[in-house]
Amino acid sequence: MKRYGILANPAKHSLSPVMHNAAFKALHMRAHYEIFEVPENELAKFMKFVRNEPIEGLSVSLPYKEKVMQYLDKINKEALKIGSVNTIVNSEGFLYGFNTDYLASNKALFIDMKGRHVPTKDPIAVVIGAGGAARAVCYGLLKMGIHVWVANRTKEKADAIAIEFAEMFNEAEIHSNDLNDLKTGDILINTTSIWTKEPKIRIQNLPYFCSSEYVRKFKLVMDLCYNPLETPLIKAAKRIGIEYVTGDKMLLYQAVDQFELWTGKKPPVEVMRDALEAEL
Ligand code: NAP
Repeated sequence: MKRYGILANPAKHSLSPVMHNAAFKALHMRAHYEIFEVPENELAKFMKFVRNEPIEGLSVSLPYKEKVMQYLDKINKEALKIGSVNTIVNSEGFLYGFNTDYLASNKALFIDMKGRHVPTKDPIAVVIGAGGAARAVCYGLLKMGIHVWVANRTKEKADAIAIEFAEMFNEAEIHSNDLNDLKTGDILINTTSIWTKEPKIRIQNLPYFCSSEYVRKFKLVMDLCYNPLETPLIKAAKRIGIEYVTGDKMLLYQAVDQFELWTGKKPPVEVMRDALEAEL
C-alpha cells in the first residue's frame, strides 16, 4: 500500500483526503492518503520520517509551504520563483518540491469558462493579499501576460512581491498599492485569509473590496477561500450579476496536478470534483 498525505497544522478539516482517496479508488490503486497534523517543533523529525518510511507524496499547506523547503533535495524552477512548495514527490528517498497552486489558479479562472466574459486584450487583475497564495496567483497571472495590481493590509509585503516579480516578467506589469487606495481592473481576486479567520464577519466590518460599488467595476471575481464557499466577495458578485469563481475550483486543480506528479497517471478529474463537492 503506497502512502500519501497532507502536511499542515491544523490539518484535520482538510478536503484533500476525499479527493485523492476517491481518485486512488477509481483507478484501483493500492494507495491511501492520510492527514499529518505536525506541530512546528516536530517538522524536522517528520521530514526524516517521510524520506525513510517512505511517504510517496505530500501536499503541503499552512504554515509549512515555505518552511518545508529547507528539507528538500531539489525544488523546481516555478516553486523557487514563487517561494513556496505545496507538493512533495518522494522518489526513493529523494525529495522533490513543486508548486501546483499557480497553474491551479489559472485553470480555475479560465478552464471552465462556458461563455464567461473574460477580457482578452491587456487584462488587468487586482489581487488582494500578499501571502503565499497571493504569490502563486500573481505568478500565474503574470505568466499568462495579465497585468497585476497587488494590494495588502501590510503594504510592504505587496511591495516586495511587486519588486521581485517585476524582475522576472517583461510582458506583463505588476504594481503594488494600499488596501485603502484600490485600483480597478477586469479580474478581482481575494487571496486573504479574512473569511477563514472570521467566517461570521459582520456586514459593517466588511472590507471595501467586497462592496457592490467596487465589485461592479470588474468582469470576473475569484475568491480562494473555500470555507465558507460563499464568501462576502462571492455574494457581492452574485448580487451584481458578475461572473465568479469559488475557492473549490483552485483546490480541485491543485490536487489534480499533485495526483499526476505523484502517480504519473491521468487524474480522474470528475471523480475528484464529485468527491470534493459532496463535502462542501
Ligand atoms: P498567508 O500566507 O497567511 O497570508 C494571509 C494573507 O491574508 C496576508 O496577505 C494577510 O495580510 C491577509 N489577511 C489576513 N487577515 C486579514 C484581515 N483581517 N484583513 C486584511 N488582510 C488580512 O496565507 P496564504 O497561504 O496566502 O492563504 C490565504 C488564503 O488562501 C487562506 O484562506 C487559504 O485557505 C486560501 N488558499 C486557498 C487555496 C485553494 O486552493 N483554494 C490555495 C491556497 C490558499 P497581512 O500580510 O497584512 O497579514
